[in-house]
Amino acid sequence: MTDRDDVLIVGGGLVGASLACALAPLGLRITVVESIPFEDDTQPSFDERTIAITWSSRRVFEAIGLWEEIACDAHSIRSIHVSDRGHAGMVRLHCSLIDTEALGYVIPTRSIGRSLVKRLQKTSSIRYLTPVNAVNLEITADAAVVDCEGVSSPLVASLLVIADGGRSPLGPKAGIAKTEKRYPQSALVTIVGTDRKHGDMAFERFTRHGPIALLPFGKSRFALAWTLPTRQAQLHAQLPISEFLARLQRDFGERAGLFEQVGKRTVYPLRWTSVIPPSARRTVLVGNAAHEVHPVAGQGFNLGLRDAAELAEIIAGAIEKGLDIGHSTVVDHYARSRQHQTQRVLAFTDGLVRLFSAATPGVGLLRSAGLSAVELIPPVKRLLLRRTMGLSGRQPRLARGLPLVAHRDSV
Ligand SMILES: Cc1cc2nc3c(=O)[nH]c(=O)nc-3n(C[C@H](O)[C@H](O)[C@H](O)COP(=O)(O)OP(=O)(O)OC[C@H]3O[C@@H](n4cnc5c(N)ncnc54)[C@H](O)[C@@H]3O)c2cc1C
Repeated sequence: MTDRDDVLIVGGGLVGASLACALAPLGLRITVVESIPFEDDTQPSFDERTIAITWSSRRVFEAIGLWEEIACDAHSIRSIHVSDRGHAGMVRLHCSLIDTEALGYVIPTRSIGRSLVKRLQKTSSIRYLTPVNAVNLEITADAAVVDCEGVSSPLVASLLVIADGGRSPLGPKAGIAKTEKRYPQSALVTIVGTDRKHGDMAFERFTRHGPIALLPFGKSRFALAWTLPTRQAQLHAQLPISEFLARLQRDFGERAGLFEQVGKRTVYPLRWTSVIPPSARRTVLVGNAAHEVHPVAGQGFNLGLRDAAELAEIIAGAIEKGLDIGHSTVVDHYARSRQHQTQRVLAFTDGLVRLFSAATPGVGLLRSAGLSAVELIPPVKRLLLRRTMGLSGRQPRLARGLPLVAHRDSV
């Protein structure tokens, strides 16, 4: 079968496209199918959002040779101020605590997408097919066979990677079940301007309606992610500008200055999903296809990029040993390697949302005491930062900024 691929990636969004770029140096034959082209206004991964990536994710992009280009549109976060509206406790986290030049970076998803798609189109070992929509699959003893709208014959590969953001029927068709819950909240996302410079500080403010995240972007602008009960988020998106800014000011307070301008407002429904294990025969899941988390701590893409880094390293190890990369040893190794971090981040983000939305009497005081305690104990701050920045535990080579090379102890 001359058209057979080594790896077929369904979904060329943030995580699927990053994985393809990471795998490129291994000399594999890779196909990426993406149903919605980058230029299309409805592209769901490279859209209106401006997201935060961690120091660890920067190193992955460095290792795959894309950071220099992406960095042109990135703004550094040097410190984060966390507070609970109506209570005194707060935490300040600075990059000097973990000896890095920034805690993370704020980047429009379209900027990341532009660099990734350019790389996919330029790389001769990658076939980037779009608009092509995967609709069905069959797993045989030695291959994954995927039917797609937009190509005339099925695509065949040793290993199928589902990177569809949980948006396609392939996961259920591979017999993969997920646990899912819908939050009664949505995130309203936009850019806001203020009357003062932010000094590269991000803010996370918990309010009784939900968390408000302000990520520094430009000298006196922030990317805003405002979590609200879904109906309120939709209504806030329609408010006249002056009224919207007044409500934001009322809920957030004046710590970041006076809000003066607002860009286009978009509302995202929020879900929590978990797939255990993120694998089936000749199939693995990466990114939102495997886990979807509340954006409260800006972890979703960072976790997905770590999936890609880990999978790339495991595949490199399998090649080195001459193994079939779709073999259950390889697939199971990937699933095991992601279990711990994924479950920790799923529990952490969901726990934060529950803790800070609890209206039980006395919980506010406990939260305030907890924040003050963290503020006063630098080792706890450091631990918290290292975990949320993806710097704790075993780091795959790409997350250490090292190029992917096949090495013997991977599988
Ligand atoms: C409001 C909000 C703010 C966020 N902020 C942050 C943040 O600050 N930091 C952070 O790390 N994360 C953040 N996230 C999470 C982040 O956006 C996601 O984790 C990330 O988009 C997941 O990427 P993905 O490639 O796995 O999935 P997606 O982005 O969903 O991409 C999936 C791709 O697969 C394609 N596809 C689907 N079905 C098919 C098919 N059948 N055939 C072919 N192609 C298909 C889709 O068109 C899409 O391009 C935020 C999310 C939200 C909603």
